[in-house]
Amino acid sequence: MKICILPGDGIGPEIMAQALRLLDALRSDGLKIETESALIGGCAVDATGSPLPEATLQIAKAADAVLLAAVGGPQYDTLPREQRPERGLLGIRKALNTFANLRPALLYEELASASSLRPEIVAGLDILIVRELTGDIYFGEPRGIAMRHGERVGVNTMIYSESEIRRIAHVAFKAAMKRARKLCSVDKMNVLEATQLWRDVVIEVGKEYPDVELSHMLVDNAAMQLVRNPKQFDVMVTGNMFGDILSDEASMLTGSIGMLPSASLDENGKGLYEPIHGSAPDIAGKGLANPLAMILSVAMMLRYSLNSEATAQRIERAVKRVLAQGYRTGDIWTPGSQRVGTKEMGDAVLAAL
Ligand code: NAD
Repeated sequence: MKICILPGDGIGPEIMAQALRLLDALRSDGLKIETESALIGGCAVDATGSPLPEATLQIAKAADAVLLAAVGGPQYDTLPREQRPERGLLGIRKALNTFANLRPALLYEELASASSLRPEIVAGLDILIVRELTGDIYFGEPRGIAMRHGERVGVNTMIYSESEIRRIAHVAFKAAMKRARKLCSVDKMNVLEATQLWRDVVIEVGKEYPDVELSHMLVDNAAMQLVRNPKQFDVMVTGNMFGDILSDEASMLTGSIGMLPSASLDENGKGLYEPIHGSAPDIAGKGLANPLAMILSVAMMLRYSLNSEATAQRIERAVKRVLAQGYRTGDIWTPGSQRVGTKEMGDAVLAAL
């Protein structure tokens, strides 16, 4: 298996270094992987003038999976739009045709006090949100701002084809099969026809997965249930816009941005794996960044692209153990726990592994 490594900017190289140490350890244990690093984001602009050089794209396309840390930084904010680091990110997602975004919201019991909700509501929370990423009102035509009857009107189009719904539904059902086998599909079928089709197609696809318990929820209720009783959910699947909002809501339930990985998958299960956080310029270069979201992205990569569920679980157990041992980077530190830096956290994970 070939893995394309994209450290990017800010804390990116620091947290990626810990992911690479982990991959080295797994390789010595017999995991057959090769890695190749490439430039993306601000560092790529500095070296080549483009945030997504052609050479990077070729390596990413040839790989079985792509591991990305983070891009961006204040020094790039004044560049022309096409040279901004974020363009590299959007460009690679588009080039790899990743239509399925998987965002776990997992709260380790040890970190329950970091959430803005009461510990008994969130402790042990483990939700996976599957968001469709390339369709819906964000891409639908017609769109724009136009003059109508002497005033400006803004128009966007919510549109989903059957095949788009079908393929994301398959991803969600398959993910549910690897977890607690409960899938909640979120729509707004009481007022939006596009989402009535969504519900109909999800029900059809569900017939192929009799072992998964399928339920449906209107998006307004889902937003409410996520803060009322989030532990009722296992996997949630929804469209691009609802998923955008619900996945951010769910990740905030866990309280720490430094803990959450994500995956964006294409039709063949190839994926781009990255922490949900950015390049954290405020702490870059200081050895303070939490590498756990990056390390958990490696676990997701093993689960979804490299078909190594056992190794994914091994990494997740190691992370759980270091938290139970009391190791904390600054972002998740609470009095009484042991404050460590990026490398020490990497050491602790390797030791626990
Ligand atoms: P950010 O996620 O980088 O940081 C937000 C806050 O969380 C900061 O205080 C930061 O120190 C902290 N933080 C983030 N990750 C952490 C970690 N692993 N350990 C400890 N603390 C962590 O978001 P931002 O400040 O809005 O953006 C900074 C830069 O990152 C911008 O240039 C932005 O465009 C870019 N960005 C990139 C991505 C990506 O690469 N996917 C995503 C979001 C933002």
